[in-house]
Amino acid sequence: MPQLHDLGGPPTSVETEQSAGPGRLHHTEATLLIAGRPVQGESVVEIPAPSDPRQIVGRCHIASPEQALAAVEAARQSAAQWARTSAASRAEILARAAEALKRDAPRLSELLSWEQGKPPAEARVELEGARGILEWHAGQAAALDPVVLDDRRGRQIRRRVPMGVVAVMVPWNYPVLLAQLMVAPALLAGNAVVLKLPESSPLALRASLSPLAELLPPGVLNILAGDAAIGELLTTHPSVRKVAFTGSTATGRKVMAAASGTLKSVSLELGGNDPAVVLPGRTIDAELIDELVRGTLTNAGQICYAPKRIYVPADRHAEFCRAFADGCADMVVGPPSDGSATLGPLNNARQLAVVTGLLDDALAGGGSAVPLGRLSEHCSPDGYWFQPRLVTGLGNGARLVQEEQFGPLVPVVAYSSVDEAVEMANDTEYGLAASVWSDDEAEAFDVAARLEAGTVFVNVHRVGASAVDMPFGGFKQSGIGRGHAVEGIHEYTELQVIAQREDMRKR
Ligand code: NAD
Repeated sequence: MPQLHDLGGPPTSVETEQSAGPGRLHHTEATLLIAGRPVQGESVVEIPAPSDPRQIVGRCHIASPEQALAAVEAARQSAAQWARTSAASRAEILARAAEALKRDAPRLSELLSWEQGKPPAEARVELEGARGILEWHAGQAAALDPVVLDDRRGRQIRRRVPMGVVAVMVPWNYPVLLAQLMVAPALLAGNAVVLKLPESSPLALRASLSPLAELLPPGVLNILAGDAAIGELLTTHPSVRKVAFTGSTATGRKVMAAASGTLKSVSLELGGNDPAVVLPGRTIDAELIDELVRGTLTNAGQICYAPKRIYVPADRHAEFCRAFADGCADMVVGPPSDGSATLGPLNNARQLAVVTGLLDDALAGGGSAVPLGRLSEHCSPDGYWFQPRLVTGLGNGARLVQEEQFGPLVPVVAYSSVDEAVEMANDTEYGLAASVWSDDEAEAFDVAARLEAGTVFVNVHRVGASAVDMPFGGFKQSGIGRGHAVEGIHEYTELQVIAQREDMRKR
């Protein structure tokens, strides 16, 4: 296994150090960041490698409640000054942070790969995505321009005003990229941020934020780590005016309830259980299979908007399943050190238990499973390995079809009419994304419009398909609000009207 310390220097001399202790891959130390200063937490936790939890990738400082309060106070104190800077100068800082991220990407992607589990090539895609998000927001200062209406009534102005302190909560599956989808628009809009790192993959995200923090006035970006208690402190604190949360639906509900006490604005990017509907006329060819294999299994299925159930016409079900299994023949599940691995382990023991439980339930309920690809000979026995499987023989009510598995199981459900496929696809509490696969574009767009999801893709459904300039978010239990695009920037603003009504003045 390559040693991470061979891969480059530490992100900054202040917050990381390296040691070659026994059994250690690398010793990255993620400190807290409060009022512009890296500080140690009240305790420190070790971050294990999912491919071999006996190996420690680094250490993360955990904030005390007092430190969390200090971070909010630092953000509050810096917010007014930051709000007075021009949107153009804030955008310039994001542009420079994008350049720094590009420079640091090779080193950070190795770190991300070891702590999150995804293969190095996928980690590089995530870093490149995060850089692209910063760069795109750097070009959007005009989204905050006031709109002036002069008419016979007088002058009325619509202004986009920063909210103040924004709390940002990040999940563990794409930490660096998902953090920037909230941090970049929040900062561009003129807010100060307190970000909480995800518990099981905090290291690359913490390091990726250092150059940005150094470009900002102290206190504008604060970083904490901790469990739900730190999250709750942020979601209930009266100085926090907005909570931007990406994570599970169950936690999203708690966040919304907690935020209600102080009537905070919430943006919730939550869970998904995306359907992929293959229409009867779609040719089952290598392009279809390749897209669906990539869509369902990238990052071992731990993607909010991956297709998690595939609907196929009953008379083509067997043909589709054969082609899908054949399409996975070269797939290898293995650790970051195995250059042939196309898939990594699951990120943590809890996720492994969830996916294993759903497979057991599917088999007990009459389903059949076909293993896909193979496990690498370099898989350590203690890693959170899960060989992907295609699962057939399930009805639409099966737990594996109804619940968000967030793993590499691919249930393929047969349908007898397009109406039935649409009905089954919509029969879920989730509505994040969906996809329609057809050789007939008009038919595909027609069926797409009948699906209940924030984004419906046509003949594609994988990481990168959701463009940063197109709004993204969920229907139903998949969330509230929209990220990405100008709509996403506006989520971090209050809308203020300044009205001078000449027509109402008594003369
Ligand atoms: P999670 O809900 O367990 O945790 C998300 C974050 O919230 C973590 O930082 C966690 O520490 C924090 N948290 C936990 N309890 C909290 C509380 N009571 N108050 C405030 N914060 C709290 O999610 P996860 O397991 O890290 O991530 C996986 C989930 O995220 C999946 O459901 C996935 O679909 C979803 N997700 C959604 C999107 C999207 O854009 N819609 C993107 C990625 C992941």
